[in-house]
Amino acid sequence: MPGLEDLYREIILDHYKNPRNRGELETPPATVAEGHNPLCGDEITVYVLIDDGRVSEVRTAGQGCSISQSSASMMTQAVKGRTLDEARGVINRFKHMMSIEDHHHDDHQAEQVPLGDLEALQGVVKFPVRIKCAVLAWNTLSQALDGSTAHAH
Ligand code: ZN
Repeated sequence: MPGLEDLYREIILDHYKNPRNRGELETPPATVAEGHNPLCGDEITVYVLIDDGRVSEVRTAGQGCSISQSSASMMTQAVKGRTLDEARGVINRFKHMMSIEDHHHDDHQAEQVPLGDLEALQGVVKFPVRIKCAVLAWNTLSQALDGSTAHAH
């Protein structure tokens, strides 16, 4: 299906050229985590602000290949406004799509969260070396969420 692959390529390039939620947040109150993929040279910094159990703001900074940067942009769209449980559900769903799911966190809540543009990254699974690029932002987000809950109350 060349049509679908073209569409996916366009979505990825659009997020790469026009990244969503790009920038920084003041820490604290936001928490920050940094991720690095030495295989490709990708660097991602993720800022999250949790308010009343929700991801009220999320921003990313960094540089790297189109897969890592577009995945980060899509990630911010997918988790902004979500509860912490929902955000972790999206992370697990995305990792499942990338075939490196953590089976201990196989909750049903994740099923209800639409992946939207993220489905454009499905094709990456065919190129195992790029999977690390695609999941970098997600692992970094996970660390930032862990940091935020460690400080809560
Ligand atoms: Zn990369």
